[in-house]
Amino acid sequence: MSACLFCKFVSREIPTQVVYEDEHALAFRDINPQAPTHILVIPRIHIENLAAMQIEHAGLMGHLLWVCAEIARQEGIEADGYRVVLNTNRAAGQSVYHLHFHLLGGRQMGWPPG
Ligand code: 5GP
Ligand code: ZN
Repeated sequence: MSACLFCKFVSREIPTQVVYEDEHALAFRDINPQAPTHILVIPRIHIENLAAMQIEHAGLMGHLLWVCAEIARQEGIEADGYRVVLNTNRAAGQSVYHLHFHLLGGRQMGWPPG
C-alpha cells in the first residue's frame, strides 16, 4: 500500500473533494486555497514531479493540461484568466511529492510569483 497522500486520494482510501476524474486523472480542491478557485490536477499513476517525468509520460502530461483547461471552463474562470503552476522540488516550494498541477483563478494574479 502506498504511503503517498495523493495516491490515497486516487484509491479513495482517503476521501477528498473531487471535481473531475477520468481514466488517467483526478482533480480535487486544495485544502488550503490560495485563490477562490484552487484545484489540484494529478495523474492516477505516481510520478514524483516534473524532474521524474519520462518521455512516455508526455501524452499524459498533455492530457493533464487539457483537464486543467476543461475545469477552468467549468469553474467559469476561463474568460478572466487563470494560472497553472507546477512546483518542482524544494526551492519551488513542492511539499507533496506526487506530481500535481495547481489550477488557480478567481482573482488577479501577481507577477513574478513569490
Ligand atoms: P505543493 O506545495 O507540493 O506544490 O502543493 C501541495 C498542495 O497540496 C498544497 O497547496 C496543499 O495545500 C495541498 N494539500 C496538502 N495536503 C492536502 C490534503 O490533505 N488535501 C488537499 N485537498 N490538499 C492538500
Ligand atoms: Zn502518489
